[in-house]
Amino acid sequence: MNWITITWPMVAAACLTLGLIELSIALGQPRRAARLLFALSAGTVACVSGLELALMRTNVLAEWWALMRLLDIAVGVMLVSLTAFIWMYFGNGRKWLAVAVPVLYALGLAFDYLPGAPAGSGMTYQTVAGFRTVETFGGVRFHMAEGVPNPWNVFPYLAVLAQIAFVTDASVRWTRSGGDRRPVVVGGAIAFFFLCAGLQAGLVETGVLDMPYMISWAYLAVLMAMSIELNADVLAGARLASQLRESERRMDLASAAADLGMWTWDVGHDTIWATSRARAMFGFSESEHINRARFFGALHRDDREPTKQALDDALASDVGYDVEYRAHLPEGRIRWIAARGQVERGHRGEPILMRGVVLDISARRDTELELQRLHSELAHASRVSMMGQLASALAHELSQPLGAILRNTEAAELFIEQDPPDLDELRAILVDIRHDDQRAGAVIARLRALLKRRSFAPRVLSLSDELANVAALARSESLSRKVALEIDAAPELPLVMRDPVHLQQVLLNLVLNAMDAVEDLPTARRKITVRVQRHSEGEIEVAIEDSGPGIAPESLERLFEPFFTTKANGMGIGLSISQTIIEAHGGRIWAENNAGEGATFRFTLPLAGAAR
Ligand code: ADP
Repeated sequence: MNWITITWPMVAAACLTLGLIELSIALGQPRRAARLLFALSAGTVACVSGLELALMRTNVLAEWWALMRLLDIAVGVMLVSLTAFIWMYFGNGRKWLAVAVPVLYALGLAFDYLPGAPAGSGMTYQTVAGFRTVETFGGVRFHMAEGVPNPWNVFPYLAVLAQIAFVTDASVRWTRSGGDRRPVVVGGAIAFFFLCAGLQAGLVETGVLDMPYMISWAYLAVLMAMSIELNADVLAGARLASQLRESERRMDLASAAADLGMWTWDVGHDTIWATSRARAMFGFSESEHINRARFFGALHRDDREPTKQALDDALASDVGYDVEYRAHLPEGRIRWIAARGQVERGHRGEPILMRGVVLDISARRDTELELQRLHSELAHASRVSMMGQLASALAHELSQPLGAILRNTEAAELFIEQDPPDLDELRAILVDIRHDDQRAGAVIARLRALLKRRSFAPRVLSLSDELANVAALARSESLSRKVALEIDAAPELPLVMRDPVHLQQVLLNLVLNAMDAVEDLPTARRKITVRVQRHSEGEIEVAIEDSGPGIAPESLERLFEPFFTTKANGMGIGLSISQTIIEAHGGRIWAENNAGEGATFRFTLPLAGAAR
């Protein structure tokens, strides 16, 4: 065992090791052709190292020629793979220089392999006469061929020069374009390697140096540069991984603080990943496999279709996915969930992934429902209070038909006692009784409708009909208070209201307020006018004008605040409820003082069929 037998295999091992590392990285990252090419060059240099060692050992001519031819091939592969590596690595080399490298080398290689090439001759030597034994450091001996160099051996050297020019040019261009310095170290090391290897081989082949080929040794410079490069990559990777972990921790903290659950849906494989929080929201266990069907299965039956629609819309177009639905928990409970998500697409625009968050909004929903319930109670209370005002007038209204019925019945009794009874008169009395009864019935029906607590049912109403109803309800009140009530309505206007009672409530509220306002005026000046007109395209405006004292400037701002009242017995909720009702139907309500006397309350509502 001498140092040559130890060191050459060590060089080969070093090349192989780095080559394998690069190969495994390249295989883990598709499209990393540069790394694959480098791995090829390192593998080839390991072979070169083995061939160099074998050449030192042989003194059999045929064997020597065979080894030389293999070495020429290995060097060629290395040259081409490094050229291609540089091409990929910098992406800016001169094409003609890159192409010149394999072309020039192939011309030299023709002397080794073309059928016409004379036996006992090759790319390097025309003829080899025999071998010399050379003694080197430590008394180690090796064989060297003695022959006549082939003048055409200039081609492989030109190929090496082209390669040096190519690498240098690519490195300079890279630096000029402001790229980072690191790749230039690799480029420089490759140029240095070819320079040293070329020079050393040239001096050996021309007999100037009594040395074995040391091409593989020169490659150590490239190995070193690539190791530095790899090291930097590994460090950058480690830094990135720690940043990633940090941002993941921040994300976890943020989502836990906001009580958010996160999810992603792999559209192609139909698998849903979700954080523990998100799983718990739907009642999914930690290990359960979730897909689209399982997700929809967990939703409330009524919410499945709208959610599917929202999901399909998000997949088909660029609208975000933003829905609220109910999840059916295993123990039979219902949970309200708000979900938001975004689609990620492939280069052809096809949806690949959907990523989003879910939030438990049950508490908010419960509060909303409770608020709605309280509101409807308040509205009801307001109606009852209004009824208190209307009651006496309505009692009067009812006493009229009831009195008429009584008088008609007494008259009928008298007619029956006649002999013969006057049947025509009796029939007329009965018709009167029926009419009076119907009148009383209608008054009671309207009262009941107003007093009833109802659920919402959107309906298209005729504003004229509703105004007539309100006028009928308010008529007796206006008569007893001696107020002139005028209705000035445009022809039939259809309105969409969630419930007719809502509109009646608003109108009655405003009319009764107007009656309160004119109460202290002399009878002749008590006047209220209800006007209905188109406000704009698709909207109508209702105005209730009175001749009262108007609204004090300091009250004008606060009229619609709940519990604001200037009346001794007022509740101060009529206007605030009217405002809520009007705004819930897409309208506006406001008050203003008239130019002359009194005030006007106005509200707008969208007409049925108007786009809203
Ligand atoms: P309430 O009638 O119980 O006071 P509202 O909310 O209906 O409650 O009215 C709030 C206040 O708005 C009234 O107290 C009154 O001061 C003022 N207001 C309402 N309508 C008129 C009107 N037509 N003219 C002058 N002030 C009015």
